[in-house]
Amino acid sequence: MIILAIESSCDETSAAVLVNGDMRSNVIAAQLIHEQYGGVVPELASRAHQQHIWPVVERALADASVAKTDLSAVAFTRGPGLLGSLLVGASFAKALALGLAIPLIEVNHMQAHVLAHFIDDPERPEKPNFPFLCLTVSGGHTQIVRVDGPLAMHVIGQTMDDAVGEAFDKSAKLLGLPYPGGPLIDKYAAEGNPLAYRFPMSEMPDLNFSFSGIKTAILYFLRQQTKDNPDFIQQHLPDICASIQHTLIQMLLTKLKRAVRETGITQIAIAGGVSANRGLRTALNQLGQEQNWQIFIPRFEYCTDNAAMIAMAAKFKFEQGDFVDQTVSPLPRLSF
Ligand code: ATP
Ligand code: MG
Ligand code: FE
Repeated sequence: MIILAIESSCDETSAAVLVNGDMRSNVIAAQLIHEQYGGVVPELASRAHQQHIWPVVERALADASVAKTDLSAVAFTRGPGLLGSLLVGASFAKALALGLAIPLIEVNHMQAHVLAHFIDDPERPEKPNFPFLCLTVSGGHTQIVRVDGPLAMHVIGQTMDDAVGEAFDKSAKLLGLPYPGGPLIDKYAAEGNPLAYRFPMSEMPDLNFSFSGIKTAILYFLRQQTKDNPDFIQQHLPDICASIQHTLIQMLLTKLKRAVRETGITQIAIAGGVSANRGLRTALNQLGQEQNWQIFIPRFEYCTDNAAMIAMAAKFKFEQGDFVDQTVSPLPRLSF
């Protein structure tokens, strides 16, 4: 079984080739054009996908030493994501599947983030067993997912407003850092004191989250501090970043603990772009030791958007014969 997978939901154009269980390639072209606008500009993202898609697919095939005619199926991200971006990957995959007369597989991007844990990785021989909980934290989503099987997932908690990745990026913007600021907060936080400043943590019922309040709290905090000292941010950047990051991580882990209490499940995975955050990885590992949980953290390459995770999800669908026909179209708000 040889699957070519394409990911184009946001601002990364990616293609991967999975040969039986072996992820032979995972090519990712990031779009740097958005940095100057402080966020992803949908129309520019769509155009950049059009420019990147052929070269990225050709590289992925070449890196895997696979010819187009060897492919068993083509997979693509159907949603959720930006419509113009999704359309590029979907149209490309449909055309290729039609031309080669091979099956077409649609993949839910958020399920794929979770299934990244099943990509064979010599450094991570142990895979989660079902059922497990996955905290999926990314630029557009914050979910606690109960995973009963590769394609049987239920969202048991989620954000009611901003995603935690958005909270990272918006906080970074307030600090004058370039987009996407999440990785930069992570970097400065490593040298700062996480208890230097306190920000209020919003209280949400059940297993749900709210991250919109914290950016307002940070905005007022910075306004107050820079009134007395215009250089406050430059002078205290590591402490501010560490404190913001600490607050966001505590909000995530509080709900995770509650989810474990309510479900009795102690196998815990994290996924999505924010799972690349070193503070979160360390805090989760510590909590796991304290609570006797088994923790699963993907390698960095499989945290942010990538086509390898799409290929992995497609493999499970291929095995079940779960294919779609040429009438399929992208769904920007696809859920599960
Ligand atoms: P979604 O998956 O919800 O559709 P997306 O695909 O845009 O959204 P991802 O690529 O999975 O999101 O993740 C991107 C997000 O991850 C951005 O908000 C980015 O700032 C954040 N991120 C990446 N690395 C880190 C890090 N080290 N620390 C904190 N945040 C990070
Ligand atoms: Mg991205
Ligand atoms: Fe994503």
